[in-house]
Amino acid sequence: MIFKTDYLIIGNGIAGSLLALEIASKGQVILLCKEGPEEGNNTYYAQGGIAAVLPGTQDSADKHIRDTLVAGDGLCDQDVVSRMVGCGAPVIEALTRHGVLFEKSGSEYRLSREGAHSENRILFYKDITGREIQSKLLKKVRQHPNIIFMPYHFAIDLIMEYKMKSVKSERKRCWGAYVYNKQNNEVLAVGARKTFLATGGAGKIYLYTSNPDTATGDGIAMAYRAGAVIRNMEFMQFHPTTLYHPYAKNFLISEAVRGEGGILKDENGEPFMHRYHHLKSLAPRDVVARAMDTEMKRSGADHLYLDISMKPKEFITGRFPNIYSKCLEYNIDITKEMIPVVPAAHYTCGGIKADIDGQTDIENLYALGETACTGFHGANRLASNSLLEGGAMALMAAESIHRGEKGDPVPELDPWESPTTPKHENVFINHNWDELRRTMWNFVGIVRSDKRLEAALKRIHLIRDEIREFYYANPLSVNLIEMRNIIINALITVRSAQWRKESRGIHYMIDYPEKSKAFQDRYTDFTKKELE
Ligand SMILES: Cc1cc2nc3c(=O)[nH]c(=O)nc-3n(C[C@H](O)[C@H](O)[C@H](O)COP(=O)(O)OP(=O)(O)OC[C@H]3O[C@@H](n4cnc5c(N)ncnc54)[C@H](O)[C@@H]3O)c2cc1C
Repeated sequence: MIFKTDYLIIGNGIAGSLLALEIASKGQVILLCKEGPEEGNNTYYAQGGIAAVLPGTQDSADKHIRDTLVAGDGLCDQDVVSRMVGCGAPVIEALTRHGVLFEKSGSEYRLSREGAHSENRILFYKDITGREIQSKLLKKVRQHPNIIFMPYHFAIDLIMEYKMKSVKSERKRCWGAYVYNKQNNEVLAVGARKTFLATGGAGKIYLYTSNPDTATGDGIAMAYRAGAVIRNMEFMQFHPTTLYHPYAKNFLISEAVRGEGGILKDENGEPFMHRYHHLKSLAPRDVVARAMDTEMKRSGADHLYLDISMKPKEFITGRFPNIYSKCLEYNIDITKEMIPVVPAAHYTCGGIKADIDGQTDIENLYALGETACTGFHGANRLASNSLLEGGAMALMAAESIHRGEKGDPVPELDPWESPTTPKHENVFINHNWDELRRTMWNFVGIVRSDKRLEAALKRIHLIRDEIREFYYANPLSVNLIEMRNIIINALITVRSAQWRKESRGIHYMIDYPEKSKAFQDRYTDFTKKELE
C-alpha cells in the first residue's frame, strides 16, 4: 500500500508530538510510533523535569550555558548551547499552551535543582513530568484534524531518491519511509515531502538500561543506512541506579534518593563510595557509575544496594511515593530494606548529526530530540537538558518549515519487496540479541579499554554477518528489524570509542585516563562508507 503526505514524523515523544502540533497548520502530517501511544517513549518515563531559565528569577542564560558547557567537558558547540538555552521560556510557553501542567506556588512556577546545575531551574510535575508532557501532547495530537496519528507502525527504512526506480538520480534526497504495520504485518510506503526522525535513543544496545524496549536506535540506523553522518556515539550516559530485579524492567531509582541521604552499599551491605570521591554517594553521576562498575567487576556481584531505610517511613513514602510503591510491587519495602540497584545505559548523547533545527546532511531529512546530535550535550549531558532539547528542536524545526517552501511533490514510489518464506529459525535472533547486549555491557560499558573494545568488535562483526544473511532471507518481524538496528548502533559505538583515545566526559578508557589535546574540539563522525 502507498500513502503520500506533506510531513512524515517518526516518533511521538516530546520532539515528534510538539513538532506535529506546530506544523500541522502548514500541511498534512502523518505521525507514527512503533508501539502504543505512550509506552514506547523515553519522554513518558522522565521523572525529574525540564531545565529552563525563566524571566524574573535569579537565574540567567549565562549560568545555564556555563553549567551545560562544564558538563559537556569541552565538546559542546557553544553557539548551539546558547541558542538551545535561549529556547527555555518559549518551550515552556508552547507546552503549557498545549495543556501541560507544571507545579506552581501561587502564580510562580516551582523550580527544583539537580546535580551540576548552579541554580534552581527545573520545572516539574510531581515525579511524573514526562508522563504529563506525553499525555497532554497526545491528547492535542488526537484532536487535530490535520494530523493522522498511527501507533503500532514501525519505520523500517528511509525511501531514498538514489534507490528509486521512477527517478534516475544519484541525489541524496529522502522521500519518506517504508513502514511495517505491526497489527497486520503489511509494509506501507509512506511518501513525504519532508521526513523527521524523532525516534529517541539507543539504550537497548546494553544489557541494563533505564530506557523502554523501543529504544533500539532505529532512527540512527535508518539514517546511517541512507548515508547520513552519525556523531559522538561513544558518549552513552549511564545512570547509576536502576532497580535490579528479575521481573522489574528499566525502573529508575531517581538521583534524588541519594540527594535525600541514600547510601550506596556493596554486596555485603558496606558503604564503598568513600574510596572513590569525597562526596561519597553524592559524587557526580559518572563518578558513581564508574565506582559501581569497578566494585561489581572486582567482586563479580550482579548488583549493589542503595539504602534509604534509615529515614522515617513517613518521609520516604511522602517524598518518593512512586519509587516506594513500585519497589513494594516486587516485595522490596524500601522503608525497611536496601534497594538492589545496578547502573544502566540512560541517555544517548550522540546520534544523527543535525543542525539546531534538525536538518541533517540528507536533503528533506530532519532528526530531532535524543536521536539527533547537535553539539548541545558534548561529552556529557546536563540533567534535564534533554526534554529542553526535544522541545527546542521541535520549535526551531517548525519555524524553518513555516519559513521555507513546501518542497517538491513526492515522486512515484516503489512498493516494498520482501521474502515470504522463512529460511532460518528464530533462535538466531533471540540468541544474538542477548549476546550483543551482554557484549556491549561487559566490553563497551562504563569503563573501556583497547582490549575490551577489540574483543567487542570481533563479536559484533560475527553477529552482524549472521543477521545480515538472516535479514534478507526471512519475512520481517519486529525482533529482526530491531536486531539489525541495534547491531549498527553497537558497531558505531565501538568504533567511535576506539577512535577517541582519551577519557572525556562519560567516555572513560583505562588505557588513556586523561583528556588529550589531540581530541579537543573534535567530534567522532562515521558514515556507512567508513564502517563497511
Ligand atoms: C527513566 C528516564 C528518566 C528520564 N528523566 C529525564 C528528566 O527528568 N529530564 C530530562 O530532560 N530527560 C529525562 N530523560 C531523557 C528524556 O526523557 C529523553 O531524552 C526524551 O524524552 C527523548 O524524547 P524524544 O522525543 O527524542 O524521544 P522519545 O520520547 O524516546 O520518543 C521516541 C519515539 O520514537 C518512536 N520510534 C522509535 N523507533 C521507531 C520506528 N522505527 N518506527 C516508528 N516509531 C519509532 C517510539 O515509539 C517513540 O514514540 C529520562 C529518560 C528516561 C529513560
